[in-house]
Amino acid sequence: MHVDDGKKRLRIIPLGGMGEIGKNLTVFEYGNDIIIVDMGFGFPDSEMMGIDYVIPDISYLNDKKDRVRGIVITHGHEDHVGAIPYLWPKLSAPIYGTKLTLGLIEGKLEEHKTANLKSHLNVIDPEKDKIKLGVFEIEAFRVTHSIPDAVGYIITTPVGKIVHTGDFKLDHSPVDNKNTDIAKLAEVGSEGVLLLMSDSTGAESKGYSPSEKTLEVNFENFCNEASGRVLMAAFSSNINRVQQFINVVHKKNRKLAFAGRSILKNVEIAVRLGYLKVPNGLIIKIEELSKYPDQNVAVMLTGCQGQANSALARMASGDHRQLKTKRGDTVIFSSSPIPGNESSVRTVVDDLFRQGANVVFESSYGSNNAHVSGHPYAEELKMVLSIVKPKYFMPVHGERHHLVHHAKLAEEVGMESKNTFALDNGNVLEIDNVGARMLDRKVQSGLILIDGLGIGDVGEIVLRDRKAMSTEGIYVLICSVDRNTKKIITSPDIISRGFIYMRENEKLVNDTRSEVRRIMARYEGTKNGDWGDAKSKLRDEISRYLFNRTKRQPMVIPVIIEV
Ligand SMILES: [Zn+2]
Ligand SMILES: [Zn+2]
Repeated sequence: MHVDDGKKRLRIIPLGGMGEIGKNLTVFEYGNDIIIVDMGFGFPDSEMMGIDYVIPDISYLNDKKDRVRGIVITHGHEDHVGAIPYLWPKLSAPIYGTKLTLGLIEGKLEEHKTANLKSHLNVIDPEKDKIKLGVFEIEAFRVTHSIPDAVGYIITTPVGKIVHTGDFKLDHSPVDNKNTDIAKLAEVGSEGVLLLMSDSTGAESKGYSPSEKTLEVNFENFCNEASGRVLMAAFSSNINRVQQFINVVHKKNRKLAFAGRSILKNVEIAVRLGYLKVPNGLIIKIEELSKYPDQNVAVMLTGCQGQANSALARMASGDHRQLKTKRGDTVIFSSSPIPGNESSVRTVVDDLFRQGANVVFESSYGSNNAHVSGHPYAEELKMVLSIVKPKYFMPVHGERHHLVHHAKLAEEVGMESKNTFALDNGNVLEIDNVGARMLDRKVQSGLILIDGLGIGDVGEIVLRDRKAMSTEGIYVLICSVDRNTKKIITSPDIISRGFIYMRENEKLVNDTRSEVRRIMARYEGTKNGDWGDAKSKLRDEISRYLFNRTKRQPMVIPVIIEV
């Protein structure tokens, strides 16, 4: 797909974030210039065993690296910045974002030892900065969201202005008093907007999403009702929520301890950059909790999604060294489970209840009053559509059903459906002086799996093996054969894991040994002992044999050693 064919037109290509909530990355391309908005990761689904994260496949950019003028980031959530340590080294373009967003990115880079990237980070002030990246002119506008210092972008292109909201809500009483800049949106709306790209996460919720500020009084009520310690789990990047909890804990004469690596790191960054105010003497170490009466302490901890190694999950299962669940604890989940995490959250909740804690969490019967969404509901989305008055509309940041519902909201405020484009990852929206159209052909998009230090080295085949091993087990056959006669010399060794307990299945094991000998006998006296063929025969025939005997299909791994 060539852009340099003389015709000047804008192409917008989402490589992640469409049809999913996660791994946001969108490419804007005009002539020789490319910019990228956001570079996030997503979480694996339950089929992707052992995979830590998934990141967008950016091979579309492989032959265009030198045209990437910059990467602009909307805010510091992982679904917008998480892939930077993995993908930035391939592109080396400058990164732009607000102060806290870049502070959080810097923290990640230190962890990943990609520190040389630091000099490529450029702070933008949404109140005054305009940056020029190739033909693109970019201006940020403040939005309220579940992390401070979030922005959307007004991108001026040769064919018109684009408004990208980033993740936002219209919170009229934000905790940090930094409202979504509706005035700027109205101004650009009156100048004429070619395309609006807007957050679809909350499109199916009616009305307005409640203000973050409503939580402080709820936290206070939880503290008033608590007979013992108060523990709260939340996303640690939600600095405004951390601030509200700090305010309440301080007011109620409790000391506060933090548990979990990410919360300690994010609190440190937020305090250093001036986004979080902590009263002197409030914070204690987790080891010091026992020095105070239970009614005088509180804990903020990681694990609001039930993550296996988080402080809360370890406390609930009794594996945390310094933090044990106590009868009378009040544990607050200030969060809503991300789809896919529900059962891990329930396990933690039940463990806590079993040990006598009182747990405030979002059950399948409804929300709790310890959490509000960071995303806009239907009426807020309609308001933004009405203020910005775009010619074209692209719902972004959502699963397909979110995008479709958001498109319907656009129709409700009077947009013609032919001017709304709901894309999949890899789709191309092209806009020129004639109009806008989605191209028939997709560019390569998809996901790269991250496992430990490996980027993309775990693919379909490895995953299939992991699945087979974890559901059916493995069965290893080790045959030692004489180098000259090609005759099997010892009884074949058999190792079984996750298939049968060998000691209780001696007959099956011995019978398989005879089968192996029978198969291997075919190769006795052959010149080279065709071991490739022997292995595939062993694999097929022993698999079939085991299946007939057990109706199970472990992964059979033959090993032949010449001695
Ligand atoms: Zn997001
Ligand atoms: Zn976000």
